[in-house]
Amino acid sequence: MDEFETQISFNPLISVQNICHSFGKKQALNDVSFDIMPGEIISLLGPSGCGKTTMLRLIAGFEEPASGLIAQNGKVISVSGHLLPPEKRDMGLVFQSYALFPHMTVEENVCFGLKNEVRKNAQDIDNILEKLDIIQLRKHYPQQISGGQQQRVAIARALAPSPHLILLDEPFSGLDSRLRERVRDNMLHVLKSHNIAVVMVTHDAEEAMFMSDKIVVLREGHVMQTGRPIDLYCRPQNAFVAEFFGEVNKIAAHASIDGQIECIFGKFLAPEVKANQNAVMLVRQEGLNIHTQKQTDISAKVESTHMLGSHTLVHMNTQDPDTGENLHLHARLPGLNFLEIGQDVYLEVDPAQAFIYSTPS
Ligand code: ATP
Repeated sequence: MDEFETQISFNPLISVQNICHSFGKKQALNDVSFDIMPGEIISLLGPSGCGKTTMLRLIAGFEEPASGLIAQNGKVISVSGHLLPPEKRDMGLVFQSYALFPHMTVEENVCFGLKNEVRKNAQDIDNILEKLDIIQLRKHYPQQISGGQQQRVAIARALAPSPHLILLDEPFSGLDSRLRERVRDNMLHVLKSHNIAVVMVTHDAEEAMFMSDKIVVLREGHVMQTGRPIDLYCRPQNAFVAEFFGEVNKIAAHASIDGQIECIFGKFLAPEVKANQNAVMLVRQEGLNIHTQKQTDISAKVESTHMLGSHTLVHMNTQDPDTGENLHLHARLPGLNFLEIGQDVYLEVDPAQAFIYSTPS
């Protein structure tokens, strides 16, 4: 079997059902439900304060839910009035404070708590230390290594006993961008090769898409959408999810008949929008195609260009022919910039990267 093929059975490892949780008057989670299958990597994604860490703490058993339940292998482990203690749950935890023992070396920290028979498998431990790029630090003490290195030691310690599930709170937040890419790639190999399920908290959509089989998008304690990365990116169910997965241009639109809107870029099918409703079309920056020859009726003037390495960000201005209002647009072009400031260009929308939602009148 391929190393990356997730071994999915039909019984959830963890089932989160209708969880509500409050701190005083503040409702942190509202009717949150999702399942975690064996070996599945799930991200809880959303802006600061949306309830991600609270959800992780509820799964870990540090908080008692106000209502709803959490089951592990079909057995209820969290419900109002009954909480299986965290140490009795088959889960590894890596929270934002790494909680390493200062008087133990990296290796001793990683092996702490392993049973003797597991400890014998030194090859496995070496493999984890190597994949996380900390094998050379095995004899160092926590105060002798950087924050990012301490974080990887904490991850290695959670992985070492090969739990069926690990919970990770912003696991790559302390790492610079190059190191982050390498560590998360290696970590994905370790997790998938050991068939370990993961719940990971992040506010970084790209990171969630890279790591996850499934993403739960939260906003103010509510689930906005749950699905595979491709579902969320290509078929966002609402404007919040569409905007969370990439910068968008917002284009005002109106439906004169059921299921079709009109906007500056022409007519588009919009099955959800009823006649006479106002709507908004969100166009991803990479969904705005730029032509230098007059291939479309929508012209714009290049205001500025920004070379960002693998792509160029282009700022443009155009006028709404109906209202005369100025419309500022951003497009993302792969590779080097070929446009001049002040140049006239012609625009076209890629319908696969444009999402239409009705708006209140
Ligand atoms: P961040 O990305 O900033 O860590 P988050 O999505 O993890 O945020 P939570 O930490 O789960 O969000 O917090 C959700 C809400 O509950 C926030 O409004 C927060 O202020 C509140 N909250 C969390 N823990 C407590 C607590 N112990 N007491 C009171 N309010 C809390």
